[in-house]
Formats: sequence, structure tokens, C-alpha cells
Amino acid sequence: MTLSLDIKVATLSPVLKRRASALAEIGLVKVRDALFHFPSRHEDYRTGVALGDIEAGANVSVIAQVVKAKSRPRFGKRMSLTEAILTDGSSEIVAVWFNQPYRAKTLTPGREFRFTGKASRSRFGMQLQNPQVEPAAATPRSSNENDLLPVYPTSVGVSQQVLRLLMRHALPAITEVEDPLPEDIRARFKLLPLRDAIRLVHFPTNSEEALAARQRLGFDELLRVQLSLGRMRHLREARRAPVIAFDEQATKVFVASLPFTLTDDQRRATWAVLKDMASGHQMHRLLDGDVGSGKTIVAAVAAMNVTRSGFQSAMMAPTEILACQHFATLSRLFSRESCTIALWTNAYKRSSLHGKEIICEGKKETARLSQEISDGKVSIVIGTHALVEDTMRFASLALVVVDEQHRFGVKMRSQLCGKSGMPGIEPHLLSMTATPIPRSLALAVFGDLDLSVLKEKPKGRKDVETRLVFRKERSVAYATVREEIAAGRQAFIVCPLIDPSDVLGAASVTEEFELLRKNELKGIKVGMLHGKMSSAEKEKAMADFLTQKIKVLVSTSVVEVGVDVPNATVMCIEGAERFGLSQLHQFRGRIGRGEHRSYCFLLPGSFSPTVKDRLMAVVHHNDGFALAERDLAMRGPGDVLGTAQSGFPEFRLASFADLRLIADAKDAAEAILADDPELERHDALRRELKVYAERAHIE
Ligand code: ADP
Ligand code: MG
Repeated sequence: MTLSLDIKVATLSPVLKRRASALAEIGLVKVRDALFHFPSRHEDYRTGVALGDIEAGANVSVIAQVVKAKSRPRFGKRMSLTEAILTDGSSEIVAVWFNQPYRAKTLTPGREFRFTGKASRSRFGMQLQNPQVEPAAATPRSSNENDLLPVYPTSVGVSQQVLRLLMRHALPAITEVEDPLPEDIRARFKLLPLRDAIRLVHFPTNSEEALAARQRLGFDELLRVQLSLGRMRHLREARRAPVIAFDEQATKVFVASLPFTLTDDQRRATWAVLKDMASGHQMHRLLDGDVGSGKTIVAAVAAMNVTRSGFQSAMMAPTEILACQHFATLSRLFSRESCTIALWTNAYKRSSLHGKEIICEGKKETARLSQEISDGKVSIVIGTHALVEDTMRFASLALVVVDEQHRFGVKMRSQLCGKSGMPGIEPHLLSMTATPIPRSLALAVFGDLDLSVLKEKPKGRKDVETRLVFRKERSVAYATVREEIAAGRQAFIVCPLIDPSDVLGAASVTEEFELLRKNELKGIKVGMLHGKMSSAEKEKAMADFLTQKIKVLVSTSVVEVGVDVPNATVMCIEGAERFGLSQLHQFRGRIGRGEHRSYCFLLPGSFSPTVKDRLMAVVHHNDGFALAERDLAMRGPGDVLGTAQSGFPEFRLASFADLRLIADAKDAAEAILADDPELERHDALRRELKVYAERAHIE
């Protein structure tokens, strides 16, 4: 009789019946749940080792007979020690357990068990300390091959032994599992059939089998994501967006008027954006470039073409400072164009035409500016999340640019996109980020977006000289700060958030500010910047720093985002070990923007070999993408992308390191959707996707 996938695991054996409620806690109720509860890894225990051949330090898993076992108190009555003598027929070994007196009762002499644990040398010879014990019958007989024992994600209350027992009981039901993957796709990407993959993910006989199984199951995870991204792309492509004609002549004149020549990457990205916007389909492009790679100009050329087509553009930045800086930059860039640009944040409402600024104060002037925007008289509106307010209306919004897109939720982006002012038409979306996104992550997570990458640095930009500073060399770092200031330059000091309750960084910045002013930076004009300050205070601090009234700016990670101060040549990053590598790289991008040589000092608050190793990567690499790859491998995608990303898929088996598998899954999803966009002929996949989408809260 075949075992049904819907049978309750409690019915499989008395042990499982007793553990049923604990198993249910980790979601293991039916046989199906068990088969799809994959091990997180395998332990490579050498089996078939004769007891006499066990070496100190080795992880072993041996089947042996109990000769005798007894427990005795130790250190008075408080502790107990259980000792068992084990034999494999030719040699003996001792196993010991601390404070597990019940062991002596279960280890009946003459019976065989599997003992799994680490061997060490004691005064009395080789011994196994606190090994796990399983009835030998529940585990396969050892052969002379390597045996891989599954290690499952678990919680208190369920042991690995129970889980292994469960899997062995559940495995016969595998004949009931249907494979949702079309046969041609499976063959094309050389993947195992699902049944084999499930069997081998639990009980492989060698690591190749384990890998092949994980590949197949990881592919399935990636395919679900890619199918849902593919369908989102499909929906988007069906949406109508304004056709923006590419004004080649005007674009050439504009580009030629810049004080620099565009890098090849900038040219390619600009071209891609203009082509997208001319297509009639809604653009959703992510422009990814290191700090200082020159993303703003790409957005500006796009906005210029939108303006010349008679539509409006909006640019949303995460902070008032950045919005103000973008407003100033665009006002200058477009001083020869006849277009009105507006700044709209909570604190500032301004407009500019031909480079002349008008400050709007009071209700009446503010209302007038708002009216001009909704009448379509303003061509480009730059602002913060204030742009999303209900009262903000546009007449013909054709382009939304979101700077530092990861700072905004998906919802805010779509709210702004819902304001085109043209029924049935959505604006094009250009997202920009300075977070270097490794290609694998981009494909896996942003598969529905088109990606343009600015890797090339604008000409003449020098690498920042970065040093890791040990505690006793702190004074040397601050001596450099003083020297640079004496030479007319300026410095940033970045502070980490010390106390999690200090979300806005006010306490750590204030503390550092006071300390530096009294000690290392005595007599130097120091300012501070943190999230608790009002917009006006922040603006004043930035303005004072820009005009050099302040020589040193002590701040939280607020400076992470795009503030441009070419005269700043030194940065000290306190508590550097608390930041992600690509984040550190982004801080560092704030300096080295002018013609002077720049220095970045990483000042960790605590040292360990790992800290040193990580931070040395920032010292040695000046490529944000390389650092992001490293962050991805060491700390996972959350650290690379930040926590604001919503709907982020959790992979159990797929790895971001496996670029080929991700690319394969994307190709497979495209192939499947190309001839069956609604998955009408792929029942199993459609059902799986529905379950997935509900869980990930997407669609
Ligand atoms: P980010 O990508 O960090 O937003 P910005 O767009 O702010 O970078 O550009 C940083 C600086 O580099 C600006 O001062 C900008 O004028 C300048 N810049 C942009 N492109 C080039 C280029 N191709 N050559 C020289 N300087 C450039
Ligand atoms: Mg920028």
C-alpha cells in the first residue's frame, strides 16, 4: 500500500505520535510537510571507521554494541557522569555524557546504537563526549562510503534523531509527489526529477548527490520568484505610458553644454532610458551606480526630454538635504531651458526659472506653487515624500525618478506613480540607487526591472586612501584631520547608532561632538547633523559646511546619501565594524570628490579577526560591487539591500552565489510564460505560484 502525502505523521510510529505536538510546532503535521522540510546541511561523518582507527578531533558516527554502562555522581551530588564502554567486535572505546543519568538505563548491554559526535583523546584513551544516540535500526547500516547525515532546521523540543526517524518513515510517500516542472525544462537545465531530488536532499550517499538535489529544489524556489516577477513585468508592459519622443538635437546640445563629457556607462544608461520612454510601454528601470558615478545627469537628460515632449517629471529624494541639492543642481543645469522647476518638501517650497530662484513662504505663495504644479506650468518637481501627499496633483506626470529607491517602500513609489493626472496612463519610473547590487541579487530580486549599471568613474576622480586604525593609532588619524583642516580642507566624522533606542542617532552624535570639541578637535569649528534636528537646523548645518563656516561635520549615517561637498577630504568612521561593507564604501564616496587627495579612516569600536578581515576588504577594494558581493556572501541579502525592501523572498535552498542557477531560472520562467502567460497549461505551477504569492504578499 502506498503512503499518502496527507497522512498525519503521528500515525507513522509510536515515537512520532509522542512528539506530534512538538512536530506540529515546526509545521510538520502531514507526510507532505515532512518531505518538504529540507535539511539545512549535512554532517559528514565518517562511518565504517573501525573504533580502533578513530582519530582525535574527528566527527564520527559509528554503530557499536554496548558492553556496559553506568552513571555515577561527580563533584558531590550536584553532577553526574555516565560512562559506557562500546565495542565493534575488534576494539573498544569509551563514551561519556555529563548530567544525563538516564542514559545508563537506555544503554542496555548487548544492544547496538549509532553514536554520533566528536572524538577526543583523554587520559584513558580515545573517547566520545556527549555523543547523540540513535537506535541502530533507525539509521542505515554503514558501508565503507562517506555517509551524510541530514541536519534539519529545528526548534527546542524536537531532536535531529526524531526528525531523521520521521523522514525515513515519510520517504515511501515520495511516489505520490508530482513534479510541477515541465519535462522539457527539466531536461534543458539538467535537473533531477523532483522525487529523486527530495529523496537525495534528505539522504544522499555522497556530496554530489546532495548538491544535485539542492540545485533542483533551489531552482524550484527561484523559478517561483521569477515566474511571479515575470507576470508582474507582463502586467506592467500591458500598461499604457506616455510616449516621450527622443529630442536628439536638444539632447546633444544639452550634453555638449556640460562642463564634462559623459562616461560610456552614462551614455549607455541615458540611451536605454530614452529608448524605454519612447516605446509606449511603461519604463521601470533601475539605475545602479556607486556614489559619484553621476546618476543625476542621466535623470536630468531624461527629464529634459520629458519637458520637451510637454509632460511633467517628478524626482523624489529621501532627505530634505538631498532634495535641496538636486533642486540646485537641476536649476543650474536647466538655466538655459525655458522650464520651471519646483522644490516641494515639508520645509521648503521654491521654484526656479532660468536659474532664478523664488522662495515661496506663507499659505498664499505655497498654494500658488501647488496650483502651478497641478496646472502643468511647472515642468519638473523635486521633493521628498511630501510629493506623495493627497493635495499634490499633477497635470501630466510622465516621469517619476526615485533617488535612493531602497529608502522608499513599494507603496510610496506606486502612490506617486498613481498621480499622472492622465486617466489610464502611468508615468515611467526611473529608480536610482547607490547600493551596488550584485548581478545575482538583481536578477533574483529585481527580475521585473531593467537594470543599467554605472561602473565607470567619471574622469579625474581619485581613489580614496583608506586605512584601518587600531585603537592606539587614533591620535594619528585625528592628527591628519587637523592637518587637512589647516590646509583648508574639511572633514566628516560618521558615528554609528550605539543604542538601538536612539534611532535618530541624536545621542551618539551629540556625545561624539562634545568629546571631539574638547579633545581631538579643540579650537576647530565643528558642527553636527542627526535625525532629531529640524529640517531647518539640518539645512543650516549642511549650508554652513558647504560654505566652510563649519570645518568638521559630525553626523549619523544621514550623510550616506548623496551630499556633495568637494572640499571635504577626510572622513573618520567611528564604530566602523557596525556597518555593512557596501555602506562603508558609500560613506567613503562622500569624499574624494574634488581635486585633492582624500583619506578615510575606519575606527572600529571593537576588534576581532573577523572584524579586521571584513574591514581590510574595504581598505583593499575600491569597487563597491566587489564589496557588495562579499557582504552578500558573508551576511546575506538583507545587509546588502537594507531592511526597507519589502516582499523580499526567503530562499531555503537557492544561494545568491549561484548566478548560473538564477539565470537559468529566469530563462525557464521566460520560456514558460512566453507560450503560456496565464499558466493555463501548467496547473501545478499555477497552484504553487498562488501559494507563494500569498505568502510573499505580492501581486
Ligand atoms: P551620484 O551617482 O552619486 O548621484 P552625482 O550625479 O551627484 O553622483 O554626480 C557626482 C558629481 O560628479 C557631480 O558633481 C557631477 O556634476 C559630476 N559628474 C557627473 N558625471 C560626470 C562626468 N562624466 N565627468 C565628470 N564629472 C561628472
Ligand atoms: Mg545622487
